[in-house]
Amino acid sequence: MRIAVFATKAYDRRFLDLANAGFGHELRYFEPRLDGETAGLAAGHDAVCVFVNDRLDAGTLERLAAIGVRHVALRCAGYNNVDLAAAGRLGIAVVHVPAYSPEAISEFTIGLLLALDRKIHRAWARVRENNFALDGLIGRNLAGRTAGVIGTGRIGALVARTLRLGFGCEVLASDIVEDPALTAIGIRYVPRDALIASSDIVTLHCPLTPDTHHLLNATSLATLRPDTLIVNTSRGALIDTAALIQSLKARRVGGVALDVYEQEADLFFEDLSDQIVEDDIFQRLLTFPNVLVTGHQAFLTEEALTAIATVTLQSLADAEAGRPLAHALGADRIVRAGPAR
Ligand code: NAD
Repeated sequence: MRIAVFATKAYDRRFLDLANAGFGHELRYFEPRLDGETAGLAAGHDAVCVFVNDRLDAGTLERLAAIGVRHVALRCAGYNNVDLAAAGRLGIAVVHVPAYSPEAISEFTIGLLLALDRKIHRAWARVRENNFALDGLIGRNLAGRTAGVIGTGRIGALVARTLRLGFGCEVLASDIVEDPALTAIGIRYVPRDALIASSDIVTLHCPLTPDTHHLLNATSLATLRPDTLIVNTSRGALIDTAALIQSLKARRVGGVALDVYEQEADLFFEDLSDQIVEDDIFQRLLTFPNVLVTGHQAFLTEEALTAIATVTLQSLADAEAGRPLAHALGADRIVRAGPAR
């Protein structure tokens, strides 16, 4: 299949080229993200391959359909940036990679939590300046603390297990579906509001849907226990960032570690070190000593990139051969039509 790969980085190319040795697709790499303006680059291709911040709204999909693109392959799990209703109407098949490596994201989540709690990022910066003083670096043991996991699917379940069995936390969970394997190890499902109000650590692992959009907002943040740590490796818009900043200023939050940010599409995955960042909310966030931000890298392991490339190219080979698509996103998955957030 002729595939136009958008938002390509060197690591995408490396892992896609390696995996493609087993498929023989024609891959053409483009650096820009796919949106209404760049859609024309896909002319002459059967499929586009995109990532988390490409914008596949109805307008973009209409342009793709008009130039003969029939397949969209998301090289990620989340699909909140695709208007699935429009894709269905236009006869464009959409596939994603639902579970390329939940370990990659769950391990990174635990890493962020430990760094935030024990101030490892700050300690590292101090030691580089030959400052070996420990004042201000006091953390707290995870053992015995209450961790609340919102969304106990593939990633959240691993995080919940690790916190419960590895660190000896009491773990509360919230999900629209309960996982009996988690209740069997003593994890308790409670309503989301109760979880937020009763946890020392809140970690987010649910998808971005109308129900979860800004689930941490001024109202819910006001119910947090003092010193609660918040970790978000899921999707930025689960948190109302402006409200989070108010809570941080009011010292109502113990610390925040984010791998995702609601306006990340304007920032992440690019080297902006020589530029002036105009997002004042993001810049304010970075000024807090108890905020740790990474640029959407939880997925970035060799194993995950290998799995993403292989599953994506397999899905497109299946589409070309007319085989059933194991990872198709059909109308049953439409949770929110509209532009990416
Ligand atoms: P998953 O589909 O296996 O699990 C999601 C869970 O959320 C499911 O159990 C589902 O029932 C639950 N859920 C749905 N709606 C909910 C609601 N309203 N309240 C509570 N729970 C709800 O997905 P996953 O593979 O575990 O991925 C979780 C999220 O992680 C994805 O949505 C994706 O956005 C994000 N992600 C981030 C990265 C990264 O690099 N930072 C990488 C992969 C995935």
